[in-house]
Amino acid sequence: MIVMSDSQTFLHELVGSMSQGAAGNPTVAMIEAAFAHHGLHWQYINMEVTPDDLGAAVRGARAMGFRGFNCSLPHKVTVISHLDGLGESAAVMGAVNCVVRRGDQLIGENTDGKGFLKSLTSVTDPRGKSVVLFGAGGAARAIAVELGLSGVRQITVVNRSESRGRELVELLRGKLKLSAELVVWNGDYAIPTGTDVVINATSIGLYDANARLSLEVSSLKPGMVVADVIGNPPRTRFIRDAAERGCSALDGLGMLVNQGIVGVQYWTGIEPDGSVMRRALEQALGL
Ligand code: NDP
Repeated sequence: MIVMSDSQTFLHELVGSMSQGAAGNPTVAMIEAAFAHHGLHWQYINMEVTPDDLGAAVRGARAMGFRGFNCSLPHKVTVISHLDGLGESAAVMGAVNCVVRRGDQLIGENTDGKGFLKSLTSVTDPRGKSVVLFGAGGAARAIAVELGLSGVRQITVVNRSESRGRELVELLRGKLKLSAELVVWNGDYAIPTGTDVVINATSIGLYDANARLSLEVSSLKPGMVVADVIGNPPRTRFIRDAAERGCSALDGLGMLVNQGIVGVQYWTGIEPDGSVMRRALEQALGL
């Protein structure tokens, strides 16, 4: 007979991720590193889920007592109809990437923008700041909403397609009463004098460290905070240009780690060690 001590259990607390293309998602490495480092008896399961199976997968997660799960593409919007409620920023964005079990309810949160904000507040207070944001897709929307909720003064959205840009600006004006304007991006954009924070939230630079943002590099001034959402490679051309011009540069890998920190905090209640998570992520990405 096997004798177990009172504190011993062979049952982990479960969290995980539902997405398509799950095999390419390195998040599991950094979350499991946090669990191991803090001695948490938790497991993060990376799950491949098709859109047709999403409802059944969420019901399954409920039935198996999952404490929560991340939701990545293509489920960030469609998962909402399977949940019991939404956090404030997720409700404004209409997108969820982190589900948290609170009591017997599954509540949708969005950590994309919160991860970004955590990076930003490590170097500056967003209140009253003037922001230029390249992009108007999912990442840009999450960042813009979180910035709006944290009290920035105004946001200029610079986007290639006018319709997507307009949609984001109208959301910021309508739901957050924020001063927001759209610049349709054609040709090199000059950052206006007086801008405090410049963000690339497009996919330019993903897998290509030399991909160029259409921007007058000389308009980046010392003292500006410059951030990129691209996590791999972290030293994008945009980040290198900004650092060379004396800006405070925040890479997308930091944002990804901070998202992980926020998720682990939501699920477990403890604040995990970000340096352990960043190391694990760098190792997983071969950086
Ligand atoms: P979307 O497809 O929703 O949006 C892409 C955006 O990039 C759009 O604004 C699009 O403009 C713009 N874009 C793409 N290519 C070009 C180009 N050649 N020239 C000008 N604009 C371009 O993607 P997401 O918002 O979901 O993701 C964007 C990036 O953010 C991805 O690389 C993703 O990996 C990264 N990301 C990073 C996170 C992190 O934690 N570090 C978290 C989430 C995302 P248009 O509207 O004109 O098509």
